[in-house]
Amino acid sequence: AIGIDVVAQPDSAIIPHASGLPDELFQTDGQLTKRAIRAVTLSSLAPRGGELLWDIGAGSGSIGIEWLLAARSNRAIGIEARPDRLACARGNADALGVPHFDLRLGQAPEALADLPTPDAVFIGGGAGNPGVLDAVWQALPPGGRLVVNAVTLETEALLIACHGRHGGELLRLGVERAAPVGGLTAWRAAIPVVQWSVRK
Ligand code: SAH
Repeated sequence: AIGIDVVAQPDSAIIPHASGLPDELFQTDGQLTKRAIRAVTLSSLAPRGGELLWDIGAGSGSIGIEWLLAARSNRAIGIEARPDRLACARGNADALGVPHFDLRLGQAPEALADLPTPDAVFIGGGAGNPGVLDAVWQALPPGGRLVVNAVTLETEALLIACHGRHGGELLRLGVERAAPVGGLTAWRAAIPVVQWSVRK
């Protein structure tokens, strides 16, 4: 049929084209940028094609994976400090069709020293500290994009200071989902995420 490039059985797995894949598609120990936040994060990273992303603190690998799914010619290097999470990200990348995700064990900022120059950098949760932000800002070429997500007040304070110094955009993203409460339904709020995105 015109406009349909996948004809699937009702129960078969389909990977949608839009960023913000279902959380269930990723194996995770809980360190996963959840779907709604991930969709906004990919929008902020703005993958175009033929570009290199550094995914720092790769966790389950979801950001680098969706960056690679956005354009076949994209490249991504993921840095993750924990071997168990690196293995988890490796499994997700292979399962979701992006075995070319270059995932490396290492601790930022040391692990960033000899990497090829990125077009965009994502820093998730735990890796957002002054040393990493300074190293990334130095490595970023003019016009390069940086997106940092923070869930702690400490990292949020750092991002507010960076925004004051370098400009860009600060977003505060709060997601609530309806969930059962004693036979009725109420909003359950996830921890809000503060996102700083900037072009150098
Ligand atoms: N964006 C990821 C989740 C990131 S959780 C996803 O969607 O799957 C943050 C990760 O950063 C954790 O796995 C933690 O082990 C890692 N991390 C924290 N500090 C780091 C550092 N300095 N260098 C590398 N990884 C780091």
